[in-house]
Amino acid sequence: NGSNTDCRHVAVFPFPFGTHAAPLFNITRKLASFAPTVIFSFFNTPQSNNKVFTHNLDNVKRYDVWDGVPEGYVFKGKPQEDIELFMLAAPDSLREAVSKAETETGRSVSCVLGDAFLWFMEDLAKHKGVPWVTTYMSEEHSLLAHLYTDLIREKIGIHETAEERKDEMLSFIPGMSNFRVQDLPMGIVTGNLDSSFARMLHQMGLALPRATAVCISSCDELDPVVTNHLKTKFNKLLNVGPLSLIMQPTSVPEDPSNCLTWLDKQKADSSVAYVSFGSVARPDATEIAALAQALEASHVKFLWSIKDHLKVHLPDGFIERNKEKGMVAAWVPQAAVLAHKAVGVFITHFGHNSIMESVACEVPMIGRPFIGEQKLNGRLVEAVWGIGLVVEGGVFTKEGVIKSLNKILACAQGEKMRENIRGLRVLMDRAIGPDGSCNTNFKHLLDIVTNTI
Ligand code: UDP
Repeated sequence: NGSNTDCRHVAVFPFPFGTHAAPLFNITRKLASFAPTVIFSFFNTPQSNNKVFTHNLDNVKRYDVWDGVPEGYVFKGKPQEDIELFMLAAPDSLREAVSKAETETGRSVSCVLGDAFLWFMEDLAKHKGVPWVTTYMSEEHSLLAHLYTDLIREKIGIHETAEERKDEMLSFIPGMSNFRVQDLPMGIVTGNLDSSFARMLHQMGLALPRATAVCISSCDELDPVVTNHLKTKFNKLLNVGPLSLIMQPTSVPEDPSNCLTWLDKQKADSSVAYVSFGSVARPDATEIAALAQALEASHVKFLWSIKDHLKVHLPDGFIERNKEKGMVAAWVPQAAVLAHKAVGVFITHFGHNSIMESVACEVPMIGRPFIGEQKLNGRLVEAVWGIGLVVEGGVFTKEGVIKSLNKILACAQGEKMRENIRGLRVLMDRAIGPDGSCNTNFKHLLDIVTNTI
């Protein structure tokens, strides 16, 4: 209402690893722009804030919180050690940061808005007697896997039993009849079920039905069966659209390597393979070399977003020999790259944001899943949506990559995928359009977060 007597204060808690914090920052910015008198405090580690807190807004306040790594700590090289340390410290350090923000702003927290991985934020919301709104940063199918973890373990068994039953379908879960036991994320029936990461996701699945609302980075229309089922599980299910795309870029994208200029120079449309594996996945030396050999031997040009420290695994002289045919860069503006007409295929790790960006630009995918829900996403892309391929054998080999590139760029199969992805894009465009379901869901979210209902 524009009055300066407003006392609303939303505490926002991103999960500071992978590509989780940037999409939450996006939706926070959008909410803040619709509610200019509400204060949003964004509690994040300094490392993550430095990357994602790109816009200074009057009513979005940056708070740096401890990453949980004790001074002088020597990393032992355990998987997800940084996440474990953060999660151990987070309940206390976040609570302390909230007290500080309450004192500084003079406003008590009126809503808790947090990444679903931080399931324990329910306690803070309860303690303060305010709504607990969560954001799930992938799409609905993987959320079902976490919601039904106990049932899956009971029906399928764990470890060796689950291995033996890896080809069975998960038909006992509504909307999952096209997914196999082997598509499930590690930590549900195979892998280390007791790791802190596996326990975090299990706890999340148990806690989310108690949340005031569960906001998802997807659209109702992408799988109405699952959407309708999830609506029966949660107090409020809000698919608000792909969160990495929810805010229109305000200016020309930053392009430190000038890869967009390089793409402009490519004469033929859909002639370039764009390669990226997101922020966490690390292909090993053998696979990087195999992929490089495939790109060099194939007829396609390529743009590869590869971190500097991984370049040592490229074959000797690779960059020099392929100066005309390809470009490598440590970071590229991916959404703009995928939108470029020269790009015809995306070689990816099947990260959620990457898939949504690919659909939005109608670029079919070749994927090599690494961690988390990426296998499940790959199954969705290949077998359910028919908009891409999982690389043969699940790992990069020279022959496997060349075969997949040919199928997508030079065969009827690729034509069919382009037709399917066009269909999905139309659905998505309609959903995120002014009269679409995502907009209606966003308005609900805004009402809940700003306590107007
Ligand atoms: N990304 C980018 N430039 C790069 C590599 C990645 O802009 O060179 C962005 C990409 O557009 C996407 C995000 O990083 O929004 C990766 O998210 P995703 O969910 O695919 O993977 P994650 O990082 O979570 O594994």
